[in-house]
Amino acid sequence: MRRRIVAGNWKMNGSRDLSEELVGYVRSEAGSLDNGVEVVIIPPAIYIGNVLDQAQGVVSVGVQNVGQWQSGAYTGEVSPEMAKDAGCRYVLVGHSERRQIFGETDELVAEKVSLVVSSGLVAIVCVGETLEERESGQAESVVAHQVRSGLAFVPKGQWHNVVVAYEPVWAIGTGKTATAGDAQDMHSAIRGVLKDMGAPAEEISLLYGGSVKADNAAALFSEPDIDGGLIGGASLVAKEFMSICRSFPAAT
Ligand code: PEP
Repeated sequence: MRRRIVAGNWKMNGSRDLSEELVGYVRSEAGSLDNGVEVVIIPPAIYIGNVLDQAQGVVSVGVQNVGQWQSGAYTGEVSPEMAKDAGCRYVLVGHSERRQIFGETDELVAEKVSLVVSSGLVAIVCVGETLEERESGQAESVVAHQVRSGLAFVPKGQWHNVVVAYEPVWAIGTGKTATAGDAQDMHSAIRGVLKDMGAPAEEISLLYGGSVKADNAAALFSEPDIDGGLIGGASLVAKEFMSICRSFPAAT
């Protein structure tokens, strides 16, 4: 079912103290949200246990990456089954930092997505164009290709375990954000691609990410095809993160 989701990606930031203080605060506030937003925290894997202790089922928890195998001699990797066993519900797949810094390809993203959704976890699949691609008019075709290839192996009955996050690379951590109108146009195009693929497009949550802050979230979240946000820097500041979560109007 299409849900409102605000997910905080801590990237390689955080500590035991932050896990306690920030997640404790978010939990105490999230319980009283009246807008139906599911709040998700995605810390570095080493703090999953600390975050889960504080989340107490009120806040959902995810991992930032998984390997493309379920177990074996893959030093340093964590599998989807392990993430599930630990108590996670979400897995980020194909974040632009994974694609650009760690060389993750569309094919690898597709393999991981298939394993994640088949494990019963929700894959938040990140797509987005670079500045050069946008300036040369290729943004929509690049994103459409990433959606088609990254979701190529989703089994028919597993679309409920797919969330797509549109994150223009030029907006991540830069303070520049897409206008609400441009983000809406891309989300609508993504929904069109999902429909073409035979997916239940209207049921799939589409998140926007890229320098979302308390002062621009409401405009983005008022667009009809934007179902929430993937938040980086602002998710490390408890009050800012919660005011982003409150930026949706009350559920009707
Ligand atoms: C992200 O890391 O997914 C992200 C959107 O970061 P920021 O909000 O800091 O731009």
